[in-house]
Amino acid sequence: MRDELPPVPGLAERWGSPTHYLNAAYSPTEEELASIARSGTQIDAALIARIGGVADVVLQDGRTLRMNGLFTQPNTLLASPIAEQLGCALEDGPMGRFIQVDEGKATSVPNVFACGDAARAAGNVTLAVADGAMAGFGAHRGSIF
Ligand SMILES: Cc1cc2nc3c(=O)[nH]c(=O)nc-3n(C[C@H](O)[C@H](O)[C@H](O)COP(=O)(O)OP(=O)(O)OC[C@H]3O[C@@H](n4cnc5c(N)ncnc54)[C@H](O)[C@@H]3O)c2cc1C
Repeated sequence: MRDELPPVPGLAERWGSPTHYLNAAYSPTEEELASIARSGTQIDAALIARIGGVADVVLQDGRTLRMNGLFTQPNTLLASPIAEQLGCALEDGPMGRFIQVDEGKATSVPNVFACGDAARAAGNVTLAVADGAMAGFGAHRGSIF
């Protein structure tokens, strides 16, 4: 998967630091922090002209809000067109589009399996590893039976 950030100039260059994923663990301090809505709502993007300095939010009306850090939640997109090129059915989740699979990680296309973040609405390492085992098992079984 790859992230699609809100269309605010200066945000992508700061992704990772000082801009963080909205759900990232963070110890609150007295620092000034801003949260930028993701592109679905367009609310913040309509107000924010760009990000400057360390993490300063420059508004359309010319005001600059000095910040030490930013949080935002990106949409996720499939990083590779392979699944679509093969004709695999896709699903829309709250974060973005992913490959539709059954319990055995089979896609809608015979003998094509998908696993991990690309094939679930939201994931983590444990689920990705387990999905991989299931997909491998399904592919192996399909090649024998
Ligand atoms: C900021 C952040 C923090 C996270 N923290 C945690 C955490 O604390 N604990 C946790 O369990 N999970 C965490 N996750 C989630 C976790 O990283 C993912 O769920 C997990 O890595 C998914 O594994 P995956 O193998 O499906 O995908 P990935 O790890 O994304 O691997 C996919 C690989 O495919 C490669 N690739 C893409 N396109 C192609 C192509 N066309 N050809 C060949 N290769 C290609 C990519 O380069 C990548 O190496 C975090 C994710 C993020 C973004």
